[in-house]
Amino acid sequence: MKQPNILFIMSDDHAAHAISAYTGGRINQTPNIDRIAKAGVRANNVYCTNSICAPSRAAILSGTYNHINGVRTLSDRFDGSQDTVAKRLQDSGYQTAIIGKWHLGHGDEADPTGFDHWCVLPGQGNYYDPHFINKDGKFQVEGYCTDIITNMTLDWLKNRDTDKPFCMMCHHKAPHRPWEPGPKYKDLYEDVDIPIPETFHDDHSHHAQAAREAKMTMWHLTVRDLKGPVPEGLSKEEEHHWRYQRYIKDYLRCVASIDDSVGELLDYLEAENLFDDTIVIYTSDQGFFLGDHNWFDKRFMYEESLRMPFVMSYPNHIPAGSVNNDIVLNIDFPAMFMDYAGLEVPEAWQGESCRATLEGNTPDDWRKAMYYRYWMHKDGAHNVWAHFGIRTHDYKLICYYADALDTDDRWAENDRGPEEPEWELFDLKKDPDEMISVYDDVDYEDVVPNLKKKLFALQAYYQDEAYDHPLAK
Ligand code: CA
Repeated sequence: MKQPNILFIMSDDHAAHAISAYTGGRINQTPNIDRIAKAGVRANNVYCTNSICAPSRAAILSGTYNHINGVRTLSDRFDGSQDTVAKRLQDSGYQTAIIGKWHLGHGDEADPTGFDHWCVLPGQGNYYDPHFINKDGKFQVEGYCTDIITNMTLDWLKNRDTDKPFCMMCHHKAPHRPWEPGPKYKDLYEDVDIPIPETFHDDHSHHAQAAREAKMTMWHLTVRDLKGPVPEGLSKEEEHHWRYQRYIKDYLRCVASIDDSVGELLDYLEAENLFDDTIVIYTSDQGFFLGDHNWFDKRFMYEESLRMPFVMSYPNHIPAGSVNNDIVLNIDFPAMFMDYAGLEVPEAWQGESCRATLEGNTPDDWRKAMYYRYWMHKDGAHNVWAHFGIRTHDYKLICYYADALDTDDRWAENDRGPEEPEWELFDLKKDPDEMISVYDDVDYEDVVPNLKKKLFALQAYYQDEAYDHPLAK
């Protein structure tokens, strides 16, 4: 069997609803990311298991939930001695490389392992004239980060050993906050208004207290985010819209450069006749609120941040232009790579290979529900409460567990909120925008206990100690 090349392109905080393959172009066009979808599959229900940068990256490398791989919050470093898909592929003869955002710590035990070549941004990295770290140390490169990462990726591909298959992880910093556009797109959208999302005026009156306390609204955007002071003389409503326009335009300008980058990489593969033998994936470490519910940022288990964009091509295996609606998780990606490489998926990995699913042959026993957990209780900047929950095709049940559950991470030292856990239930078929929690609605009094049972069963299955707590009795 010929092992396929893998080009895994992952950006940071790029929501599926800022990709025209998903929206038909409601707020922007991404012709190059769309090329992958047209040549392969667009997956609509790919979810992260914890909607925040470092934890999602750790899950993708290790195939495990964050309580297993140790990266539950942004302050945890990845222990590079653990098993990863990069090590497995490298051991089996792949050339492996990672370029761009790493965000899993630095220093001996936290530098990338399992990669023949690595060149990564320290921490979040900078948009302009960024520093990079490789095995020889730190150095600075002039230019715009997205372009530099693209050029470094192309250079490595051009100079690789062509006798071996490759796994290249090209990880962009963009479009992460503070959303600094590249020189080419500074004036994009200058004379247009980007449409506001349907849920822009949500006041969270039908959500849990946690939603009302989150510091992620348009009003929490800083002068740095907005690239200048608010003009004088605006009414409150005018300022609200002004803030959204400033935010969303810079975000979409960053996305435009990412899309160009994808185009350059695809052009290279096509010119070198590699496209048919290469699995090409475009995804992001999580989703993002684009003014939805009046928010920016991620963290919550709500749809906009839970959903990862995921398009993948592999001609002769994945039908062109297909659409998949099965529940796939970030922890499934490494198992799928192993599957395609003809390697056995390690027992300890918690994800499943989504190969058959994405090829259009979903197994009958494929998961019908997913488990989520966000650990960073009341971090200073965003103030989102720790929560866990279950999503099925029809419902989502979320528990803000607050003081009802002890956690052993440093976030537990913060002011914890109510001692009673607070629950939300959304009927996703009737209320796909999750505007109204129906947890206390008598119409759902049979749904809730059934979902709780499934939720606690998933916690036990994934060995999250939370299952053994008073709520689960
Ligand atoms: Ca991120």
